Amino acid sequence: QRVHDNWALFFAQQLAMERKSPLVVLFCLIPQFLGATLRQYGFMLRGLEDVEKTLNKKNIPFILLKGDPGHEIGSCAKKLKAAALVTDFNPLRIKKAWNRDVAKGVDVNFYEVDAHNIVPCWIASPKQEYAAYTIRPKIRRLLPEFLEDFPRIKKHPYSLNRKSQPIDWKKLPSFLKIDKRVTEVTWLKPGEGAAGRALRLFTEKKISSYDTLRNDPTKEGQSDLSPYLHFGNLSAQRVALEARASRASLQNKEAFLEELIIRRELSDNYCYYNDNYDRFEGFPSWAQTTLKKHRKDRRLYLYTLDRFEEAATDDLLWNAAQQEMLTRGKMHGYIRMYWAKKILEWTNSPEEALEIAIYLNDRYELDGRDPNGYTGVAWSIGGVHDRAWGERPVFGKVRYMSAAGCRGKFDVKKYITGFTPAV
Ligand code: FAD
Repeated sequence: QRVHDNWALFFAQQLAMERKSPLVVLFCLIPQFLGATLRQYGFMLRGLEDVEKTLNKKNIPFILLKGDPGHEIGSCAKKLKAAALVTDFNPLRIKKAWNRDVAKGVDVNFYEVDAHNIVPCWIASPKQEYAAYTIRPKIRRLLPEFLEDFPRIKKHPYSLNRKSQPIDWKKLPSFLKIDKRVTEVTWLKPGEGAAGRALRLFTEKKISSYDTLRNDPTKEGQSDLSPYLHFGNLSAQRVALEARASRASLQNKEAFLEELIIRRELSDNYCYYNDNYDRFEGFPSWAQTTLKKHRKDRRLYLYTLDRFEEAATDDLLWNAAQQEMLTRGKMHGYIRMYWAKKILEWTNSPEEALEIAIYLNDRYELDGRDPNGYTGVAWSIGGVHDRAWGERPVFGKVRYMSAAGCRGKFDVKKYITGFTPAV
């Protein structure tokens, strides 16, 4: 959802130029999507409004469709007598299904361009990777070819000979069947412009202490770019280029690029090649075996979804993390691991833990419903991309995390105070 630094749009413009044809951008809005609420829809729609304005300046009409993308995109392309169709890549099941439906309904060339990753997902690896250490050398080998600067989108010289319908952005929320009680956040502005400013702030200031501060939830050590990357307001490739060109030390740059490129592209690899990315069956076999063996272990606490959602467990640290997600819409990365692992510890089964963690993550996080989210939850609960550790109750050989461990890493009291509502 951006105009600049977008290989899919650039490729579409090239095709249109070759044919001396107009170029049109379609976006199909669905009334509900993977548990997203007003918080995420609001962020997305305001970002799209920005996209429409920028596209207009480039003489590229933006058409907003409503309904099932698998049907609407193809039928609009037919009405416009499109000669070709180009879409972005996304490894999630629902997006793959839309693409399959669109492909069935059109008889023109339909291209998928990976504008989500730096190294296209299917080129980085032809199979599901075992862990970061197996995908890292493959991506590193290909980076010199793919980590290049972007060409600019030009003002398009061929105009569409009909007016596209003006979009009434204010009226769109009434079309949505979403939960509007989860409201928008105000600390992070959506859109391509805001994303660019956030990137500048990070590469000019914060990146030089990234490696030392990123794992401390009481400090602002992370980039806070994930919502922009999730909605595509910002390209990961642009972020990598700017991070590389920054004045930060090599250690800070490398620590950041490891997360932005290796971990992020590993998540896409997992979701792309493993259709069970959000299910117990997606876990590696060693983790499934050990979790099954410990299925009946006694749990110290058992909470319902409501208790978790209301941040009302007996663990103040966990409650603070949940509060951070409820109020800010973005939980700190380090504490996300603890948060998800405790859900495994305090529910009846790994399946239930997975369901609750994904539900909460997708409902409240601005960057939720993302390959990184499904993979992060699967890492925490199901040992995905991790190795077996010492065996213990409930977790079996899946890595355990404790509040005492957190106390050794950061000022837990300060974090709790920061996210405990006053009574
Ligand atoms: P930074 O530390 O500044 O990192 C920059 C970018 O690198 C991130 O925006 C992200 O694209 C990538 N990155 C960082 N850490 C990871 C990681 N562990 N795996 C993959 N990519 C990473 N990330 C999401 O984008 N959406 C989610 O819904 C999500 N849910 C998670 C749930 C759990 C249980 C866990 C353990 C992790 C989850 N993550 C998720 C991964 C990670 O925590 C976030 O990407 C990160 O905290 C986002 O903040 P940032 O942009 O400030 O990160």
